[in-house]
Amino acid sequence: MMPSLKAPLRRALLCALLSGLAPAMAFDAAVAPPPSQARTLPGYHRLLLGKFEVSALSDGTVAIPLSELLTNVRPREMQTQLQRAGIDPKQAETSINAFLVHTGSRLVLVDAGGGKLFPNSGRLLASLAAAGYRPDQVTDVLISHLHPDHSAGLTLDGKAVFGKAVVHVHQHDTRFWLEPRNKGAHPDHAHVFDQAARDLAPYQALGRVRSFAADAEIVPGVRAIATPGHTPGHSFFRVESEGKALVLWGDLIHAKDLQFRSPGIAIRYDLDSRAAVAQRKAALRDAAAKGYLVGAPHIPFPGIGRVLESGGGYEWLPVNYSEIGLRRPSAAD
Ligand SMILES: [Zn+2]
Repeated sequence: MMPSLKAPLRRALLCALLSGLAPAMAFDAAVAPPPSQARTLPGYHRLLLGKFEVSALSDGTVAIPLSELLTNVRPREMQTQLQRAGIDPKQAETSINAFLVHTGSRLVLVDAGGGKLFPNSGRLLASLAAAGYRPDQVTDVLISHLHPDHSAGLTLDGKAVFGKAVVHVHQHDTRFWLEPRNKGAHPDHAHVFDQAARDLAPYQALGRVRSFAADAEIVPGVRAIATPGHTPGHSFFRVESEGKALVLWGDLIHAKDLQFRSPGIAIRYDLDSRAAVAQRKAALRDAAAKGYLVGAPHIPFPGIGRVLESGGGYEWLPVNYSEIGLRRPSAAD
């Protein structure tokens, strides 16, 4: 329901509109909605990829101290670039995006968000509902890697959220993160080992965890590409229909405003920083050369766009907002 404007306010607005001047309006706290971002409509962003429907789903955001996390960067360069983008280096608010691919016969979710782990995460199910789907319709969940902001949303209160889905994870990630002996060798990542075990347990109990090997086709039209570095089993997923491609990148980019321009900048979350940098350089080069669409969990929502070469580095070009692009060609066309 639209709140009705009080008569004097209506008159003031009308006068201002007629005279071309902005009204000097008092802020009326009593009628103002609570300050929040809209919680449903921007929760998904949809496009068509050949015969597939792709929806970016927002799980919310998380604030991360980029100034303490980024490596291979001069502090001054970091400050300048982040300031230019209006981002607080100590609390850089970072999107958590997941992606839903409807192939016609399968409903594939790529990454599951952070669940209730962070103050502003856990919006995935609301976004899924806004996009018109229920969790029990998801047939497959593909996890780019077993970090909590990608896998904690698999469960809610210890139960499987996507109870009818098979969860697919690269075998090097399941082997690494589910092996208790590795935890002692990586004390900085101890909580990740615990969380990964919790996230997969209900699906293991249902016999619904599948470990895939390198470059496997997970479902028709969706192929995994092994990109170890950030984690041992870190994977991209290439979605392709009728010659149109979208490559879902996992954690290739954490700081859009720095890492496109300087792909050598790394983050402490990488288990093998050197390999992660090499993957980033190769992926950016390939995406810029071939021009396919790219989707990324931590590029501002919806996190879908293309990569351009620019001044010795790269540039991110977000997808255009489109309604017309959602119209499937009719028989009459
Ligand atoms: Zn992540």
